[in-house]
Amino acid sequence: MKDLAAVERVSRAELTRLQLGRLQECVARAAARVPLYRERLRQAGASANDIRSLDDLKRLPFTAKSDFRDTYPFGMLAVPMDEIVRIHASSGTTGKPTVVAYTRGDLQTWSEVMARTVMAGGVGPGDVVQNAYGYGLFTGGLGFHYGAELVGAAVIPISGGFTERQLLALRDFGSTVLCATPSYGLHLAEAVEEAGIDPKTLKLRVGFFGAEPWTEGMRRALESRLNLMALNTYGISEVMGPGVSVECSERRGMHVAEDHFLAEIVDPATLQPVARGVQGELVITTLTKEALPLIRYRTRDLTSMDPEPCACGRVLVRIGRITGRTDDMLIIRGVNVYPSQVEHALTQVAGVEPHYLLVIRRADMLDSLEVRVEATAAVAAAGPDAMRGIAAQAKRKLHEVIGLTADVDVVPPKTIERSIGKAKRVEDLRPRD
Ligand code: ADP
Ligand code: ZN
Repeated sequence: MKDLAAVERVSRAELTRLQLGRLQECVARAAARVPLYRERLRQAGASANDIRSLDDLKRLPFTAKSDFRDTYPFGMLAVPMDEIVRIHASSGTTGKPTVVAYTRGDLQTWSEVMARTVMAGGVGPGDVVQNAYGYGLFTGGLGFHYGAELVGAAVIPISGGFTERQLLALRDFGSTVLCATPSYGLHLAEAVEEAGIDPKTLKLRVGFFGAEPWTEGMRRALESRLNLMALNTYGISEVMGPGVSVECSERRGMHVAEDHFLAEIVDPATLQPVARGVQGELVITTLTKEALPLIRYRTRDLTSMDPEPCACGRVLVRIGRITGRTDDMLIIRGVNVYPSQVEHALTQVAGVEPHYLLVIRRADMLDSLEVRVEATAAVAAAGPDAMRGIAAQAKRKLHEVIGLTADVDVVPPKTIERSIGKAKRVEDLRPRD
């Protein structure tokens, strides 16, 4: 089998050459086959012929989620329907789901980038991969499935949920790899504890967690409670699904599969590139997609980019944790708050679990934020005074991190609804105006 990951270790010059050729082709194809791109490029006065270096990317127009909505369901496709062999949709976290489609070639590319994703955690033949991402329209399940099969691991297509069955597989099938959203991973960790299973007796070695924002605090919890190395993986349906970016075992940012996806970080207000290391919106141009080429697609995800070489030897740039999306930013009493900041604060408070919900209300024109968070079993057993004490601590920590006074409600264990896919962290009860 060819070494799928060889491209991750070529020189920067060689990678740039590859990217440039692919970019020119992608833009030419998009212009020739998709009316939206033809029109957009015409308006911007840009064409594939103008692209002489990667820097010329800046001259190309942006695309956004609204373009998918305006051309729903198939208007962005660059191939006729008889070349499509798979259809997926985004989770619809922020509204109507986006429909995405793949040619046979796209599925091959996707399997390869997913193979590289699991290889970043050392997965190969002999591994047993418990794939607890949802199978179905969501790209997570089948994405990991094909990648893990391609490297020769044994895949358990268990999907999300059915926690009892997950425990059975963990124990009896000897799963060495877990793929799940971090919130569901934590739920499984609890179930393992409740069943009286010592995680050290399980064979888990590495977990691939993604599809929703999470924090270093959450990583520590997953690593210690499941006795594995937790790697962050990022993907987005419009671009491909999972497989866009993954951490190596250095765990200092996620390497972007740059031979297929060209990443930029721009200021979401001015759309100008930000200086290196500065937070902004991740913009991705696909280099090899056949069915759904994307030019400068605004992901709405906020992160920063680190082009410094990584100790692992990969040439690929790294993006930092996704700290939020431009559309999950809450404005509460004029202060910008991301749910992940709340998680960051809560994971620094001993005595609570990272199961939480933000409830925002408005009364007399004034917004209030309630943060509901679960006590650990020990704190709950110690009684109401202990819970109040922890609430006061959490309130101080939250104020320090988000600059807002929140009402903290420390609730008994297992009282906040568990998700099997992406966790719901916000209940915004303010009237829409
Ligand atoms: P949506 O959730 O928008 O309906 P998708 O199902 O395609 O669409 O999920 C992609 C989104 O999930 C990304 O845009 C990002 O917001 C989020 N996401 C994926 N991976 C991560 C990650 N590792 N960390 C934080 N957020 C992530
Ligand atoms: Zn690395």
